[in-house]
Amino acid sequence: MTRARALGRTALLFVLLAAVPLVIGCRGTNLLSKQDEIQIGKEGSAAIEREYKLDTDPARTALVQEVGQRILEGMRQVEGKRAPDFPFTFKVLDTKEVNAVSLPGGPVYVFRGLMEQVGDDTDMLAAVVAHEVAHIVARHAAKQISSSILADLAISLGTRGSAQKAATIATSLVMLQYSRDDEYDADRRAILYTHAAGYDPEGLVRFFEKLQKLEKSPMKGLLANLRTHPLTENRILRAKRQIAQLPDRTSSHAVPAQ
Ligand SMILES: [Zn+2]
Repeated sequence: MTRARALGRTALLFVLLAAVPLVIGCRGTNLLSKQDEIQIGKEGSAAIEREYKLDTDPARTALVQEVGQRILEGMRQVEGKRAPDFPFTFKVLDTKEVNAVSLPGGPVYVFRGLMEQVGDDTDMLAAVVAHEVAHIVARHAAKQISSSILADLAISLGTRGSAQKAATIATSLVMLQYSRDDEYDADRRAILYTHAAGYDPEGLVRFFEKLQKLEKSPMKGLLANLRTHPLTENRILRAKRQIAQLPDRTSSHAVPAQ
């Protein structure tokens, strides 16, 4: 386990401990409201920003924020009235892992290592950001937290569950992995959002190909991204097929990295 990943686990454990009593306490159900999600996101981002350093490079930070805002515009065009009114934030974490994460209710983090890998290919960065925004919009994490872990915890509290049981639940949240269908859904939405925002949606395919290359390189250890968002040939095929069917191909007018 890398240090960054260990820190990530600590952060997520904190999210669980901080957020779950709040949710159980005020609702007593396994359904998260949007307000619950926003609260979990806030607690989670505070924890993450205690564990990781935020990147202080102004150019990288500005780029991620700008891409994030454009993706939000694209998202709102695509989702229309379904677009959630979450307080989205876009930040860079100063770690060399090639990763990006999102928390329920709005926070998106891109890791410095990922930004270094995508270089000046802003379309690739836009695809990653759009994929994370899509997970938040579709409430994928909240769905998993509410359906499995929270239900387990409710039972555990009801039966005066042991500390060991709580630890098991914590581990399952830390290992939270999106389902294959949720990955397809996030990719599908990401392609629509990037296209609507005027980025080249092929950026997603180029990012997948980049990951495949890295997976065969000594940098494999930095690819935590593949654990939480498993990459399959089918994902790449589906993305290519969807892009080929997009109405009019928009060329990128993204702002270059520097
Ligand atoms: Zn994903």
